[in-house]
Amino acid sequence: MKRCYTRADKNQMKDSNKVKEKGNNKRNRAGLALLLVLLLAAFFFISSDAPFIKGARDSLMQRLGYEAIEDTEGGGDGSSSGQNGGTQTVDGADVASLDASALPEYNGEHYVKVNDGRPEFPDEVYERAGLVKDGDTWKTNGNLLGTVDSNKLTPYEYYGSLDNLDRCTYAYGCLGRETMPEEGQERGDISSVHPSGWAKAQNWERCHLIAWALSAENANPQNLITGTHYLNYDGMRPLEEEVEHYIWNTGNHVLYMARPWFTGDELVARGVQMTAWSVEDKGEGISFNVYCFNVTPNADIDYRTGVVTTEEQAAQDARLYVINTRSGVFHYPTCDGVKEMSDRNKKEVTATRLELTSQGYTPCGYCEP
Ligand SMILES: [Zn+2]
Repeated sequence: MKRCYTRADKNQMKDSNKVKEKGNNKRNRAGLALLLVLLLAAFFFISSDAPFIKGARDSLMQRLGYEAIEDTEGGGDGSSSGQNGGTQTVDGADVASLDASALPEYNGEHYVKVNDGRPEFPDEVYERAGLVKDGDTWKTNGNLLGTVDSNKLTPYEYYGSLDNLDRCTYAYGCLGRETMPEEGQERGDISSVHPSGWAKAQNWERCHLIAWALSAENANPQNLITGTHYLNYDGMRPLEEEVEHYIWNTGNHVLYMARPWFTGDELVARGVQMTAWSVEDKGEGISFNVYCFNVTPNADIDYRTGVVTTEEQAAQDARLYVINTRSGVFHYPTCDGVKEMSDRNKKEVTATRLELTSQGYTPCGYCEP
């Protein structure tokens, strides 16, 4: 028998189908929403730094056989830097770094890695460049998913003020072709600057925190420290050239920070921390965080005064010197400086050079005893 539907029946069927469809839709949407909530919760669980979430995550990871990253790598992801003591503050922002009271000892290498070599900057270093935080990474404003648009970056250089002992503090910036010297531009004279600890006749070099080739900075006292040739040419220069070549080859930008580290009230830095990270490719091209030693192999440096004693000088026998008791400078007796000295200030001593420098006397810059 042929079933016969009336219009009303059909309408009813349609309606009931519709309702059914609606019911299906509702269930689908509820399912999707639940899935979304679960995904969000899972993402939050994976990425959150909230202590109770972190704790739960770490214990789960441990049960699954993973070790917490902080434990295996000795800590140092900014958020936990408060506990490991190696915290530096630049304009109020904390970054895992070096411990000023226990700087690395020179071991024959030009530099050692800091934070396992991973670059890390205070937020303001990124922010001044026009970057905004995007989860664990950075992007330019208005761009999606951690993308950086070169045109939205702000190249800049920032030089921290000298401290109360007239020592350099730090220099950082977003370096690019814009901050570099122009083609054919010549270096200016920097001899007018006498950085803290600058002592004559010690073969010191004026060492840029941010190299001239990257910053076009000349006689800026906030960017020049008393450094050895070893630090300047063997330690820092290869890294500076790496950054310089990268910028020339790509047109990209590099976040860069150089910071001298002093022990106590000493006037000469023990070393310089250099951190660099290429922005557009997120460290693919340039990525380092190192501490370069301000030393001269086979020489002893008095970091309080800037007096350097080579092995040869240290081996010298006692001999006659003339001290100017007023200025604290000592000379060979034959020096013109001695002839001009008033008898009141003149004091003859028989001593080794090392004995005099360790008493705080400075060798004359003219006769170079
Ligand atoms: Zn002299």
